[in-house]
Amino acid sequence: MQDYIEFAEKNNVLLKDKGPCQFCNAQTERGIHECLEIFNLGFQQIDFSNPKNHIYRFFIVDAHTLQHPEIHGRWNNHFHLSRLHLILEYNFNWSYQHSPQLSNYLKKYKLQNKNEVLSPPPLLKRGEINSLMVLEKAIDEAKTKEYVIAWAKAVYLAWKDHHHTVDSIAKGFLKNNY
Ligand SMILES: [Zn+2]
Repeated sequence: MQDYIEFAEKNNVLLKDKGPCQFCNAQTERGIHECLEIFNLGFQQIDFSNPKNHIYRFFIVDAHTLQHPEIHGRWNNHFHLSRLHLILEYNFNWSYQHSPQLSNYLKKYKLQNKNEVLSPPPLLKRGEINSLMVLEKAIDEAKTKEYVIAWAKAVYLAWKDHHHTVDSIAKGFLKNNY
């Protein structure tokens, strides 16, 4: 869990220990640390042991990662935005087996596009919905799912400047694998 602190340092971002999350504007008391706790422990209303519900895990991971790119590696943006694009725009029925396929495709893609950077939307402008808002609405499984989808869609929209780029990745991925 210390990884994120190292990534922030590498990106020259000073993590704030108090107040709202400096990245997604979740109205937390302990900033990004609390936002990550919600991400790691929250949303237990969803039964993730049911394969039909794995999609919600992908949405949660993609939404949270794309709202907090400063605490992840640069190429994570490509992975998570491409996956969201495939799911939302191509109705791709994602399951755990597809993630390593996309990673492998991106490994090759990186070699051809070494300098490509998907620069994130400005801080606090990465989707109207955040981790804490989902948690607060999560009264039962149906509501939790509803807000997780809304969260993922809001974050996806906030990254619209890069939809064109990830569309070409999505097409390449589909052509390579299917
Ligand atoms: Zn946050």
